[in-house]
Amino acid sequence: MTVLDQLPVATRPLPSRVRVAVVGTGFAGIATVARLRAQGVDDVVVLERGDDVGGTWRDNSYPGCACDVPSHMYSLSFAPNPDWTRTFSPQPEIHAYLRRTARTHGVHEHVHLRTELTGARWDDARQVWHLQTSRGDLLADVLVLGTGGLSDPSVPSLPGLDSFRGATFHSAAWDHGHDLTGERVAVVGTGASAIQFVPHVQRAAATLTLFQRTAPWVLPRRDRAITRAERALFRRVPAAQKLNRAGIYAVRESWIVGFTKQTSVMAVAEAVARWHLRRQVPDPVLRDKLTPRYRLGCKRVLLSNDYYRALSQPGVEVVTDAVVEVLPRAVVSQASDGTRTTHEVDTIVFGTGFRVTDPPVAHVVRGRDGRTLAGHWAEHGMAALHGAAIAGFPNLFFLVGPNTGLGHNSVVHVIESQVGYVLAALAHLDTRGLASVEPRQDVQDAYNVQLQQDLQGTVWNAGGCSSWYLDAHGRNTTLWPTFTWTFRRQVRRFDPEEYLVRTRDEQSEQVPA
Ligand SMILES: Cc1cc2nc3c(=O)[nH]c(=O)nc-3n(C[C@H](O)[C@H](O)[C@H](O)COP(=O)(O)OP(=O)(O)OC[C@H]3O[C@@H](n4cnc5c(N)ncnc54)[C@H](O)[C@@H]3O)c2cc1C
Repeated sequence: MTVLDQLPVATRPLPSRVRVAVVGTGFAGIATVARLRAQGVDDVVVLERGDDVGGTWRDNSYPGCACDVPSHMYSLSFAPNPDWTRTFSPQPEIHAYLRRTARTHGVHEHVHLRTELTGARWDDARQVWHLQTSRGDLLADVLVLGTGGLSDPSVPSLPGLDSFRGATFHSAAWDHGHDLTGERVAVVGTGASAIQFVPHVQRAAATLTLFQRTAPWVLPRRDRAITRAERALFRRVPAAQKLNRAGIYAVRESWIVGFTKQTSVMAVAEAVARWHLRRQVPDPVLRDKLTPRYRLGCKRVLLSNDYYRALSQPGVEVVTDAVVEVLPRAVVSQASDGTRTTHEVDTIVFGTGFRVTDPPVAHVVRGRDGRTLAGHWAEHGMAALHGAAIAGFPNLFFLVGPNTGLGHNSVVHVIESQVGYVLAALAHLDTRGLASVEPRQDVQDAYNVQLQQDLQGTVWNAGGCSSWYLDAHGRNTTLWPTFTWTFRRQVRRFDPEEYLVRTRDEQSEQVPA
């Protein structure tokens, strides 16, 4: 019997009211429920729109998909896996790990699959969240959004795309039923996913046309099999695995100096990347196209041993002109001088990333004043307190919310920090008999002013590129500006001074903490 067989499916009725509703079953949702259960909180429901748990690692099954932070760090501290087979494990292994963790920590008992959160409204009179889902409504005292920063694919709205007669799909929804063998394939995008699947597409396809807007910096990938002896050691001596994890963490944290404090040291990594490019791409014209013109780190640094090599093969063309139109059997690009070129293709694969700075869930969650989170953010900018709590949205915690992404280390570390914070907030609600907590607007504003100041001068803001780290106004709403241990220290305890609270007896009146 598989874990999926044991998971409750859409036929199980939703409860009418719960203490905590968690949305999403990626690392964030699974970690939240596992920790809640460990603390004895089990009046919990988990809403998941997909038909399995796993989030990112359920959806991204494209060939070559793997993590780019070493697995012994890119995993939950309370659920160590001594059996990772590679330093950078492939997607099926990470997905299996998440399913196993959901089962061993009892998370699956709370999960309702194929259940999408379609609306959430804070009822200020009753101090409760009214949740609408694709399978019915329910009430929740506390709402935890673990909906992921990279869970909603972004496909450019190209003129004529609907008229295309061949197959099209996004890397996060790979069409495994579609055989690319012998086809003329267009790939749009050269980000973290594309560099993983492009070598596989190149090997299968007759021709590959790669549309590149900006060349990424690519460093060699130090991936290797983890030996049986190492795995046996990690199994028998858990401390050895912990030490290994601590070592990876420390090395990765040291990178933050180059990203934020001394960006000129990135020149060293750039030299390595240029050497890597020279070694794998003999053609100087192609090499020039693939050479980035901004500081390394400004966009996500990519790791690959076979991407450049694949682009040097016969039948591959790298197009740096903009894609302007799709015809029934072709993609049209346009050079800066207006010259248009028609590229005949059978299939278009989009490696165009995700809706990071405009998450869809923000359009369905309504706070105290009835306005959506997206509406608030459109006016004030995407912002939160500690990347999780938002003024005007009582008892809401948005995991991996604004400014919690990382360019240098494992996002799972941030998730675990935030889950600890949610638990501390819940404990505060319970011990004080409170109905709700909501960040003070002045505290949230001051927090974000400081955050934006800290981001000034970092490679992400001043590295000379445009990236998904920045919103439409050029404001960095996605990344945490410094070491992750400072974030963990900041959220280690719940500070009631930062919040407005309401007691259960005085639900209609705001009282100071
Ligand atoms: C290909 C790829 C590789 C990556 N590699 C790394 C890496 O090496 N290191 C790293 O640190 N990070 C990496 N990331 C980032 C990764 O997204 C995070 O590390 C982490 O997996 C996020 O977990 P999450 O639980 O927050 O979100 P997700 O894993 O995205 O889970 C969100 C869940 O919420 C569900 N959901 C969303 N909206 C709704 C709704 N309205 N109703 C119900 N359910 C909903 C989704 O179906 C999904 O299951 C990678 C991302 C991608 C796409």
